[in-house]
Amino acid sequence: MNKLELEKIKQKALEDHIPIIMDDTLEVIAKYLKELKPKRILEIGTAVGYSAICFSKYLGKNGIIDTIERDLERVQEAKENIKKVGVEEKINIYEGDAVEILPTLNEKYDVVFIDAAKGKYPFFLKESIRMIKPNGIIFADNILYKGYVMSDYNKHKQRTAVRNLREYIKEVTQNPNIQTEILEVGDGLAISKIK
Ligand code: SAH
Ligand code: MG
Repeated sequence: MNKLELEKIKQKALEDHIPIIMDDTLEVIAKYLKELKPKRILEIGTAVGYSAICFSKYLGKNGIIDTIERDLERVQEAKENIKKVGVEEKINIYEGDAVEILPTLNEKYDVVFIDAAKGKYPFFLKESIRMIKPNGIIFADNILYKGYVMSDYNKHKQRTAVRNLREYIKEVTQNPNIQTEILEVGDGLAISKIK
């Protein structure tokens, strides 16, 4: 892995205001990945490939990341970035809306990273639970959404996102087969272990 290239990719994404994974969030997930050495990771929300590239370092032997992105310009940039860093054989991009793509997938995953449209988190969760392996982990980024989720703040613009994020939290905390921790790192990270 070319560290200098990775740093350039990160800086350009930040300049372009692309909401890439925050350092403290990445640090937490990396700790889990180091231990799990996952064979297969599913990511929902590739953007320009930054988080997928970072995760690829922790894959087990012959491990693969499947990642989904609907913005075709970002898909293009992600492909270029993945090539620059030399991890093409580890990352497979699905181009299109995850709402349509997820139901067509039939893999089993050790890890899922949900990092796309907040209003779709309950649906992404349902599909992730369908495909997660026993003892797998589902991470959901931006789960506290700037603090809106835990406050009574209720601006019209964020209302649907907030409602769906709360529904996600309710499901992962009440489902008896799921054990969840919510951390205040970055924009909030839910870590759900599946029994
Ligand atoms: N995981 C990336 C950042 C993802 S930003 C990183 O940390 O580097 C969220 C991305 O999800 C955006 O690029 C957006 O276009 C994409 N997205 C949002 N909703 C989506 C959907 N329904 N299907 C596919 N991609 C989606
Ligand atoms: Mg995010």
